[in-house]
Amino acid sequence: MTDISPELLEKINQTIDEELTSNKILKDLLRKIRDGTATYEDADRFAVEIGDILSKAFGKHITTSILPDGRMYWNIGKAVIEPTMLRGNELLAEYCKRVQSLMNQAEGIGFEPVVPGVNQNRIDGILNRLDHAESYDDVHFLLDDSAYMQNFLESAVNDFVVQNADLMYNSGFNPKIIRIYHGGKNHCDYCANLAGTYDYPCNREIYVRHRDCHCTVMYKVGEFSQDAHTKNIYQDGRRMKAIDLMSADQSKLTPKQARLVEKGISQEQNREFKQTKARLIREEMERTGANHRTASIRVTLRNNNR
Ligand SMILES: [Zn+2]
Ligand SMILES: [Zn+2]
Repeated sequence: MTDISPELLEKINQTIDEELTSNKILKDLLRKIRDGTATYEDADRFAVEIGDILSKAFGKHITTSILPDGRMYWNIGKAVIEPTMLRGNELLAEYCKRVQSLMNQAEGIGFEPVVPGVNQNRIDGILNRLDHAESYDDVHFLLDDSAYMQNFLESAVNDFVVQNADLMYNSGFNPKIIRIYHGGKNHCDYCANLAGTYDYPCNREIYVRHRDCHCTVMYKVGEFSQDAHTKNIYQDGRRMKAIDLMSADQSKLTPKQARLVEKGISQEQNREFKQTKARLIREEMERTGANHRTASIRVTLRNNNR
């Protein structure tokens, strides 16, 4: 039987090459490196994008029908899947290394970035699951559902953060690990609870990343960590909202933050006003037996005449 691996790997690599040269998100993220504004949040986006590219390439070229007995045997995984995952990891590591260099420069620290080794256990774990399945049909999602490749790469970003924070710690700094929960359409209680700022070294759970988790894990050395590009201020692992800035030291706010505070105050007043009006309408309905609409008109008129 002919070995399908070399040709398969070549096709996968070709598809990845095409994506790497045409992908707009990657271009944007690489520009941020050149501009010196890239952060670990960008590294995380880079991981998400590369993971997606790997999965698309797998999905495009690997089908049950091309595999011997319809199975992804260990030797095919080793010859095709592993080098592809390693390639993704290498691209990501280069990005993370440059982000870390930018951070070290910004903090005036002359450290060379620590580059963690690839997590071979994760690769072996996937190869094992592929190998053990009776049919590729049962496990194809490990490769073509991007959640798995993204998880592999986003976890590698975490390794970068933790190992570089560790170097800081061992050099006498007091790094803090920040975990940011982005929320979005798939709310996750687990991650929402983990979001926060923690003194390094902290519980390993803080770095845990389940499948489909896109939380950002980063570290800071100073009081605030500032995203150099967007100037978002993070505290306790989340973007500070206007309501949080209101309790911060007002004299230290940037003009943009001050505007946010103003907006926050007016939103707060607006909310209070609505609550008060709702209460007055309820009282008017109870007192006079009027329907909601009538009660609402009376309350509005009374308010305007005051
Ligand atoms: Zn989660
Ligand atoms: Zn998460």
